[in-house]
Amino acid sequence: MNDLLPGEIEVWQFVESTARTLFGRFGYGEVRTPMVEDTALFVRSVGEETDIVGKEMYTFEDKGGRSLSLRPEGTAPAARAYIEHSVSNQEPVSRWFYMGPMFRYERMKTGRYRQFSQIGAEAYGAKEPAQDAELMDVVVQFLEALGLKDVTLNINSLGDDNCRPAYHAKLVEYLNAHREELCADCQQRLERNPLRVLDCKNEKCQAVAAAGPNVLEFLCEPCRAHFTDLQRKLGVLGIRYVVNHRLVRGLDYYTRTVFEFIASHPALGTASTVGGGGRYDKMMKGLGGPDVPAVGYAMGLDRLVLLLKEGGKTFTQRPDLFIAVADEGSQDEGLALASRLRREGLKVDFDTRGGSLKSQMKRADKSGARFTLVLGEQERTSGQAKLKPMAGGEPVPVALDNVAATVRAQPEAAAPVPAA
Ligand code: ATP
Ligand code: MG
Repeated sequence: MNDLLPGEIEVWQFVESTARTLFGRFGYGEVRTPMVEDTALFVRSVGEETDIVGKEMYTFEDKGGRSLSLRPEGTAPAARAYIEHSVSNQEPVSRWFYMGPMFRYERMKTGRYRQFSQIGAEAYGAKEPAQDAELMDVVVQFLEALGLKDVTLNINSLGDDNCRPAYHAKLVEYLNAHREELCADCQQRLERNPLRVLDCKNEKCQAVAAAGPNVLEFLCEPCRAHFTDLQRKLGVLGIRYVVNHRLVRGLDYYTRTVFEFIASHPALGTASTVGGGGRYDKMMKGLGGPDVPAVGYAMGLDRLVLLLKEGGKTFTQRPDLFIAVADEGSQDEGLALASRLRREGLKVDFDTRGGSLKSQMKRADKSGARFTLVLGEQERTSGQAKLKPMAGGEPVPVALDNVAATVRAQPEAAAPVPAA
């Protein structure tokens, strides 16, 4: 679990505000649900045999003897809230997004933590492929807005209750024939949840899976039509994708469409999936709610942040102005001037410790401010001061009652290099 401090938090804020903007444009409203839920919620939706529920949940008993879990994902809590608030009675289609921490007891490595952040979205009430496509479009536009390239959309269809059993039977038959080649975990998965073998990160298991039966060849007519239309719609939107028939995703609740956004950057190592999702038309009813189709996805912020950091862009916003005081007697006026300029919208830095002008100038350098204004007795009496451009160049004369406008009127010079 990580601490995020100023200096690092800015890239997070950039990702979060970009997400808010994009979801706003697409008409997705934000939901915030509690960090803890009844353990049973995740068992019933995500599935007992999944890694998440089987191995990774932080589960504890509260003082009332209830079994609670820190949420390991956001889809089930959102569905719980949707059912609890009878949202389907109020509107036929709801589009929600959420962001916040999730908890999974995993082995730590780059891009894999025990508390991590997800941004996710769910669209309830539309079973049409257009809804799947729209959801993928938000993600595509979000990644574009972040400036992240080299992320590939993988799509697949897992069929439904009608056609999946035949595929399932064929897969089990095939995997049983290759049992010895599978890792110990997968030999167990084969017993309890064979689809999960396709999800294994072990190379040998992946090789076995690659040569196995293709789920797409088993789709019934309505599922095939859904998948074909989805691809046509992605074409209409100009979204590039690859069909990957081995993509299953690690959760039990998916039907038909599943998809993942996979980055090819070496910084992520094996943690290359930045996000994914799928359709889960049966889950709401399975949780005791209305029979409402749904499609959703979740992205890992930690991995997006890693990718953005690799890009080398800076996200910290430098101050417009540093106010230094030349003498003790100007300290109050410096403090008041900083306050006034902040109220007028400037980002202003000021050394509340006072001290020598030399030490303040050092701090001004370090702050990366565009300008420094030195306030002394002379400036106070005349009402006139100078804006010293920290990147070098001629000082700009300024009246003390017109600082904000003058700073704003200065053309942006090349950014000064902050001292290390
Ligand atoms: P993986 O196969 O990498 O374990 P997953 O299938 O368990 O991923 P999902 O449940 O689909 O992951 O979660 C969606 C996204 O959340 C992932 O693609 C990833 O970006 C992020 N994520 C999942 N688990 C972690 C974690 N432990 N640390 C950081 N990010 C995570
Ligand atoms: Mg996982």
